Amino acid sequence: MNNKLIAPIKKLLSDNSTKIVIVSHVNPDGDAIGSSLGLYHFLTNSGYKNVDVISPNGFPDFLKWMPDADKIIIGTKSTSISTVKIKEAEVIFCLDFNDIERTEDLSNRLKKAKGYKILIDHHPDPQDHFNHIISEVRSSSTAELIYELILLLEREKAIDKRVAECLYAGIVTDTGSFSYACNNPRTYEIVSYLMKLGIDGENIHRQIYDTYSEDRMRLLGHCLGSNLVVLHKYKTAYIYLSAEDLKRFNYQEGDTEGVVNYGLSIEGIRLAAIFIEKKDNIKISFRSEGDVNVNNLARRYFNGGGHRNAAGGNNKDTLSHTIKYFENIIKELSSNDFDALREVTNYN
Ligand code: 5GP
Ligand code: MN
Repeated sequence: MNNKLIAPIKKLLSDNSTKIVIVSHVNPDGDAIGSSLGLYHFLTNSGYKNVDVISPNGFPDFLKWMPDADKIIIGTKSTSISTVKIKEAEVIFCLDFNDIERTEDLSNRLKKAKGYKILIDHHPDPQDHFNHIISEVRSSSTAELIYELILLLEREKAIDKRVAECLYAGIVTDTGSFSYACNNPRTYEIVSYLMKLGIDGENIHRQIYDTYSEDRMRLLGHCLGSNLVVLHKYKTAYIYLSAEDLKRFNYQEGDTEGVVNYGLSIEGIRLAAIFIEKKDNIKISFRSEGDVNVNNLARRYFNGGGHRNAAGGNNKDTLSHTIKYFENIIKELSSNDFDALREVTNYN
């Protein structure tokens, strides 16, 4: 990010009565909510009076501790309010996604909206539905980019503890508590600055990771004990969850967050997946190690996308057919150590 890149934003923010909307992607994660609320608090601290955060759908309980999380407008619940806000917005910040379709039900309203759309994101290959794009794949998280934006706007003083807590949550969750996408020293410089504002990193970690319901913990046990398939020969491990499994463990939004990562903790496994039977399709998450590019896997075979080592998609077929389809693809790709997925070069 540099001064030239943020010049249009500087200009747009010259009037503090500007109507601003911040939107993020469907099934928002810690970075989606953290970067949105971090930007929201920064803008309100800076004197902007008309700022709203809209999430396409609900978000997990373990993110609800963030300051003013209850003010987020949920698209699926408040359809008419979100429609009016999007229509009337003069500036629309689009955070943590690279394709407007990732906002699902909001996407048509966003496409029609007259407001100036600014994308701030760290996923590869942003699509061009936006008036201005800040896309940095080397950044750990969108939260980190919001911090850089604030510095370039020369409004560091507007970063208070609430901004810091939200941005820290985005960085912690998108790096899996500093276990991936975290080899850049800049990430730690930013974290150090946020810490100096008096945030309690230990408590934030507890709020996010140590607030499981008993059902969620038992669902995890079921995933690992009964529904994990390890294909050593193909360096692949996957977990599956049927609608019946979800019902049995009283599934709540966010309960499967992070479960896909366990496959990668097995020695020799380079690619992990989770298949979850939803109402209309099978939702899939992928994780990988090193140069195994699951963004390309998700894009090519599962109507999805994401990052090189963390991606997702879906398949409109039964759970068993989807798994069979996946196994056939993996059998082919792993024979050449997933070389065929490499190709695109604009990643770090
Ligand atoms: P998760 O597996 O945690 O849902 O998502 C991992 C990454 O993949 C995130 O960066 C997320 O934005 C992206 N992702 C997940 N599902 C989809 C999808 O259906 N389409 C696209 N384009 N990206 C996805
Ligand atoms: Mn992110």
